[in-house]
Amino acid sequence: MTRWSTLFPRLRMTADQQNAFLSLRTSARTRLLLSSVIGVCGFYLACILLDILLLGDVTLLAISLRFGVVLPVALVLVRYVSGDHPIVNKEHAALGVAILGNVCWCLILVSSRNPAVLSYFYAAASFQMVVTIAAASPFRPSLIASLLIFVLNYSVIWFLEGSSGFYVLQHLAVYLPTVGMTLLVSYQLESEAIANFLQSQENEVLKRELSRQNKDLARLSVTDPLTRLSNRRGTDGELSRLRLEMPQAMENAVVLIIDVDHFKAFNDGYGHGAGDDCLKRVARAMRRALPLDAHLARQGGEEFLAILPATDADKAGHFAEAVRRSVRQLGIAHEFTRDRNRHVTVSVGAATGTILNDDDFQSLVDAADQAVYAAKADGRNGWRINERQQVAQDVA
Ligand code: GH3
Ligand code: MG
Ligand code: MG
Repeated sequence: MTRWSTLFPRLRMTADQQNAFLSLRTSARTRLLLSSVIGVCGFYLACILLDILLLGDVTLLAISLRFGVVLPVALVLVRYVSGDHPIVNKEHAALGVAILGNVCWCLILVSSRNPAVLSYFYAAASFQMVVTIAAASPFRPSLIASLLIFVLNYSVIWFLEGSSGFYVLQHLAVYLPTVGMTLLVSYQLESEAIANFLQSQENEVLKRELSRQNKDLARLSVTDPLTRLSNRRGTDGELSRLRLEMPQAMENAVVLIIDVDHFKAFNDGYGHGAGDDCLKRVARAMRRALPLDAHLARQGGEEFLAILPATDADKAGHFAEAVRRSVRQLGIAHEFTRDRNRHVTVSVGAATGTILNDDDFQSLVDAADQAVYAAKADGRNGWRINERQQVAQDVA
């Protein structure tokens, strides 16, 4: 009760929001309007029975006006409402036809000489209530239509059989509260619809922002912040994706483990910041040296992992060498290395085989790890393949 007696605050909408509001409710409003027009029209035509029962002396006129004028216009309205027109125009048209119906009803009543016409005229308030509430018309056109109907009704009321000033006052006492409350309901309904719409728009914006943040978070959780390569979790995700999307490519893969040589000495000699820059450049160089579909990740520290799906064993040496050469060609000075070339280099261990499941993958990583140790033991800046049939190779 309190709810209807206090005005719901009307929220302001921008022009864009207004257009979105209109377009959103177009189809729902059209369906509601159509059923309301048919319902109200049925009710209006059924009132012929009241004309006959209560008045009796204007039956012919009532039939002609209700069925000869209002019905055809209502049929045109039904067609118009079903068509592809702006919803606002449809709502205005519906209220226009309601006013026409009221005009015809007033004509019937002023033409009757039956004293019952005074009681019957109280139905003016119910008619207006039906039009506003049943059609759930927007507030502004409802208000205009109500004012027009008010002026019409209270112009006609004086010409009713037996009308008097006292009767007009009595009629107003019934009519005004009914119509006033009806308009208030119309206002409240529209205000609530606007508030719901604005709330849903706000929710939509929040949802989009949340999903963007989730995507960022998901990306960050699989990315190494220093090199922007994938991290271990990213490798797990990539393996799952590959196993699902291209299981055949996992049957013959090459795994490379890449370790920067004498990196502790580099850090100690040039400082941690220079060490970080070095790792970034090394990561970029290796990324460029590998095919696009190869997965390259930072395992931790100065150790990297590459997975090359659908790559035959005889290509392992080719890619290991490509990675080694790309880093050496950066020409990053490393005067603290005890090697002869005095540049930042990497040692690469390769292993080949299936990585269809986690155990297979882990054994290839272990094998590649052993190959890295072998490359280190052989003087670094080189690569080894952990396969008995492969010939170990040194690169100067
Ligand atoms: P080896 O040739 O045998 O691989 O020797 P190494 O010095 O490269 O290997 P070691 O494992 O002894 O040292 C690795 C160093 O990498 C230790 C640490 O100072 C450095 N390191 C690890 N992570 C980072 C990092 O994120 N930034 C920097 N600047 N240095 C790092
Ligand atoms: Mg190292
Ligand atoms: Mg290491």
